[in-house]
Formats: sequence, C-alpha cells, structure tokens
Amino acid sequence: MTLHETDALVVGAGPVGLFTVFQCGMVKIRCHVVDALEAVGGQCSALYPEKPIYDIPGHPSILAADLVERLAEQAAPFAPVYHFSTQVESLARDADGRWRCGLSNGATVLAKVVIIAAGGGAFGPNRPPLDGLERFEGKGVFYMVRKREDFRGKRVVIAGGGDSAVDWAISLAEVAAKVMVVHRRPKFRAAPDSEQRLKQLAEAGTVDLVVPYQLHSLDGDGDRLSAVVVATLEGETRRLEADVLLPFFGLSSNLGPIAEWGLDMDRSVIAIDPATGATSAPGVFAAGDICAYPGKLKLILAGFAEAARAAHSAYDVVHPGEALHFEHSTTSGVPGGK
Ligand SMILES: Cc1cc2nc3c(=O)[nH]c(=O)nc-3n(C[C@H](O)[C@H](O)[C@H](O)COP(=O)(O)OP(=O)(O)OC[C@H]3O[C@@H](n4cnc5c(N)ncnc54)[C@H](O)[C@@H]3O)c2cc1C
Repeated sequence: MTLHETDALVVGAGPVGLFTVFQCGMVKIRCHVVDALEAVGGQCSALYPEKPIYDIPGHPSILAADLVERLAEQAAPFAPVYHFSTQVESLARDADGRWRCGLSNGATVLAKVVIIAAGGGAFGPNRPPLDGLERFEGKGVFYMVRKREDFRGKRVVIAGGGDSAVDWAISLAEVAAKVMVVHRRPKFRAAPDSEQRLKQLAEAGTVDLVVPYQLHSLDGDGDRLSAVVVATLEGETRRLEADVLLPFFGLSSNLGPIAEWGLDMDRSVIAIDPATGATSAPGVFAAGDICAYPGKLKLILAGFAEAARAAHSAYDVVHPGEALHFEHSTTSGVPGGK
C-alpha cells in the first residue's frame, strides 16, 4: 500500500483547489491534490472550457480553460503532487492528530490538514450499464480522449449524440482505421456545423453512422475488447468489430463519500465558520462551492478568498507555535518561485 505524507491534502483540483495550492505555498504548506477527473479544472474544464468568464477580477473576459491553465501555472512553483482519476474516499483522524485519507486507488495520504475544495462533488462519466464493462475500462473503453494519437490505426466505436461524440468522431476519422458512431436517433444534439460535417463524412464513407442503435454488450478476450454489440429498440442486434469504445454520455457529479465524513453539513454542502474556513472537524477546512455560510456566493472569486482564508487558518495547524507574519505577495515574492 502506498503511503504519502504531506502538510495538506486538497480535495479537488477545480479553480478553488488550484488557488488553494498557491495560497498554501505562500505560507509554506506543501500540498497533495486529489481529483476524480483526469486533469485540473473542475467545472471549468468539465462543463464549459470554451466559455468566456466575465467576472474574474482583472480579466474582463477569460476562457474557462485559460483561467484553469493560469491557475495551474500559478500553483506550479509549489510543486503540488496531483493524483488524478482518483477519489478521496475516507477521512479518519490518527492519534497524533493527522488525517489519514483513503484514496480510491488504494493509496493513503497522511496530512496535517485537509482542505476540501470539492465543488458539487466528484465528477465522473455517466457509464453505460453494460455487463463486464469494468474489465475493459482504461484498456479498450475510455471516457475521455487525452491524445488522439492513441487511437491511430484503431477501430473506434463512439457512443452518444452530443458535442463530444460528434467532435471526436470528426477528429478521430483523420487517424483511426475506422470510426463508427452509435446513437439512438438520427438527429444529434451537437452544434449544427459539426453535425453537418459528420453527415458529410458519413456520406463519403469515412465514418459509419450506426443509428438508431444503442449499446447492448461488449465482447473480448480477457481485458482486450474485440467487438461492441449494439441493438435497436426492437432488440435486433448488430456486431461491430472494434478495438476501442468511447462512451460519451456526459459527466455527473456526486457528493459521494464526503457526506459520510461526519462533518456538519448544510443540505449537500459543508458548513464552515467564515472567519476561519474551519469545518466541524479540527484541521479540516473547506473552500469554494462545497462550503456554506450565511451570504455565501457560489462564484469563483468568492472561492479564491475562501482559499486564502483556509490556507492562513491551516498555517496554525501545520506550523504550531510559529507566528504567521502577514506579508503581501509584492513583499514576499513567491517563495521558491520566480
Ligand atoms: C456553465 C457554467 C458557467 C459558470 N459560469 C461562471 C461564471 O461566469 N463566473 C463564476 O464565478 N462562476 C461560474 N460558474 C460556477 C463556477 O464554475 C464554480 O463556482 C467553480 O467551478 C467552483 O470551483 P470549485 O473549485 O469550488 O469546484 P469545482 O469546479 O466543482 O471543482 C471541484 C473538483 O473536486 C473534485 N472532487 C469532488 N469530490 C471529490 C472527491 N471526493 N475526491 C476527488 N475529487 C473530488 C471534482 O471532481 C471537481 O473536479 C459556472 C458554472 C457553470 C456550470
């Protein structure tokens, strides 16, 4: 079993989790950061990367994806250790006061403080209800495309009718040996231009539109996928020989284990003391959309201030007996950074 020891465990790598790493770094707190997603950014990356945000101070307009990139860059000098595609499942306090945090990959993080920046809960893909799906996940079944080169020369089945399904079908058609798009209806829920492009590729024989069908079952040897079986609503099946299945049925967030951690909750969010960011458990703080107090605004800018508040409060736990001399960043610079 892998054991990591650190000053702070940050739950969530959304905009607020990232800024928490920066604020912690400024007060000499080292962080490990865990997120259920495959990359940083939380809602900004998962739900609206290409939308401009207009209410980030100092940025009259900034794309959500660009904001996330800059926040990650701002956190980078403090060398956070990221654990992606991983959930924080359990929190238990050791006799020495540190928090033993159990991760879904079997590892444990032992941290002096925990800062929960978990937004609306852990993001995860909507998984199709197929027998034996887990066997192929990460080998032949993927819910995100990291590098399209990974699919060069492969026979790819894409399931879904939204923007992700349509956009990736168009893009992967340039590198894959074959692209088949399975959707329940002939009409797609994608941008009209993209849908038109997909239909042109289908007419040219570059993409195979498998409609109206839905996923029925998977076939393979061990954990190697060899075919995706699809069915009409009437139950008529068709076998698609394939190396890869990309189910694109969107993401959903789930508060999941956080509700079981014994913290005082206010419906589905964590009650904090706004003066300190503290939750009802000693050494556990919260910031961003997951926290609640009178007058809370679910805005990124509010989360940034809560991140600073939590980091300053965490200092007393991480560095007991050492007074924190408040300094502006213009005076201190970025310790260890440029
Ligand atoms: C369409 C849309 C437009 C928006 N526009 C604006 C806007 O213009 N301005 C604005 O200020 N706000 C906007 N918001 C709201 C803004 O995105 C949120 O306030 C912000 O993302 C909250 O940041 P966060 O870091 O607290 O949480 P999130 O962004 O939700 O990130 C939380 C992260 O924690 C992870 N996580 C949760 N639980 C666990 C766990 N147990 N283990 C591991 N990981 C976990 C999740 O996977 C997620 O990645 C918008 C939201 C949406 C949906």
